[in-house]
Amino acid sequence: MSGPGALWELGQDAASAWLALAKALEVSGPTPCEAADARLWFPEGNGQRLASQAAREACGGCLARAECLAFALAADERHGIWGGLDVDERRELRRQGRAA
Ligand code: SF4
Repeated sequence: MSGPGALWELGQDAASAWLALAKALEVSGPTPCEAADARLWFPEGNGQRLASQAAREACGGCLARAECLAFALAADERHGIWGGLDVDERRELRRQGRAA
């Protein structure tokens, strides 16, 4: 997981979600994405599917998962695995949220 460039560049919802994630990270201790090879969360090229599966599984044990996913949704992150979901899955979640 990587942070936003600058908090003031985010919308209000994304900035609030980022602050919530920062608090969750304070209490969670090192997250799986900090402890492992970060490239698993931003897979490219050959092996992308396997890398992304490893990242998803690691996210499953992360204490900051909910906040991480909430931030990615609020910020409309277009790259990487956040909260165990890739960009297509997050897009679908957002679409379902709008339809509800
Ligand atoms: S949910 Fe996954 S990407 Fe988010 S902080 Fe945890 S390990 Fe990292």
